[in-house]
Amino acid sequence: NRDDLRCIGCGAKIQTTDPKEPGYTPQSALEKGLKNNELYCQRCFRLRHYNEIAPVSLSDDDFLRLLSQIRNDNALIVYVVDIFDFNGSIIPGLHRFVGSNPVLLVGNKEDLLPRSLRRSKLRDWLRQQANLAGLRPIDTVLVSAKKNHQIDYLLEVIDKYRQERDVYFVGVTNVGKSTLVNQIIKQQTGIKELITTSKFPGTTLDKIEIPLDDGHRLIDTPGIIHQHQMAHVLSAKDLKYVSPQKEIKPRTYQLDPEQTIFIGGVARFDYLTGHHAGIIAYFDNNLLLHRTKLANADHFYEKHLGELLTPPTKDELKGFPPLERQEFHLSEKSDIVFEGLGWITVPAGTSVAAWVPKGVSSLVRRAMI
Ligand code: GDP
Repeated sequence: NRDDLRCIGCGAKIQTTDPKEPGYTPQSALEKGLKNNELYCQRCFRLRHYNEIAPVSLSDDDFLRLLSQIRNDNALIVYVVDIFDFNGSIIPGLHRFVGSNPVLLVGNKEDLLPRSLRRSKLRDWLRQQANLAGLRPIDTVLVSAKKNHQIDYLLEVIDKYRQERDVYFVGVTNVGKSTLVNQIIKQQTGIKELITTSKFPGTTLDKIEIPLDDGHRLIDTPGIIHQHQMAHVLSAKDLKYVSPQKEIKPRTYQLDPEQTIFIGGVARFDYLTGHHAGIIAYFDNNLLLHRTKLANADHFYEKHLGELLTPPTKDELKGFPPLERQEFHLSEKSDIVFEGLGWITVPAGTSVAAWVPKGVSSLVRRAMI
């Protein structure tokens, strides 16, 4: 009976006449949905397919035009970063693009960090990192979009700072911006609101708009591709494998100088000089860490890459770049960061080397933990 069709997403009665009312489905989509036995209203359909908004590169002309629009709008900027990969989340020059608009910093994927780490401390750390990157956020909020942690609180904070303005969500790809906006949509949209997709004026870029009560909007911008992300050297399958899904269990090693740890086949850490010392590794729990002697490490890598040392898997070795070495001399306790993978915390008074695939960065920062 066509009069009693319901959306399998929200349960609203399907109708094809009024796009502003619940359950609206265009006629063509209705036919298709019936045929595939998968009938969604337009709103739920968009929610389900939402992650498919195409990312853009930072040098994309359209994207630069979009940023200048943001600067000219009177708005609150919500800048979403991955706290597990802060450096890979940086949008170069963001402080210039936002003009005088306030920036609210949201550290996503809070669930990946050890529960024992005090959240207030983590927030301070995040604020500090933002300052180093030239940003002065008006506030810093930690959330987990995936676990739905602190999303209500984030919405309160957004409401407090936006003061009857539009809100733009910005972030590089893979920080979890879509997951976050989806959570917000779920919480915000009673049936009354309708999410709309439209284009930024004068560009080819899509945006998602969520209407707010006062006539203003939450606007999601396309994800920005970061050139140095691990995503560029690993296949989607391997990338998934090295990206942590659960709370990270730190792994401690007692090392002597001239020892090496391989991080799968994607990175390598050499302990060069210092005392017998404990180092702590923060990577996906399933990623194999293998300890060996420095003197033997080159040979070991050549022999076992794609087998014991994986990812990359054997069939993806072609096109996988060689590892490049960078040396660090540490006068204080520091994290050696393997961008997109994780980090190793090293005590003061040591020299180490980090190896990452050509095109990916390694760097040193003050220890987070
Ligand atoms: P976007 O490119 O920024 O829109 O990122 P997505 O929303 O597509 O998420 C990228 C990846 O991060 C996906 O594998 C998500 O499952 C994962 N992700 C997103 N939010 C969280 C989170 O709060 N915690 C964890 N552990 N993973 C998340």
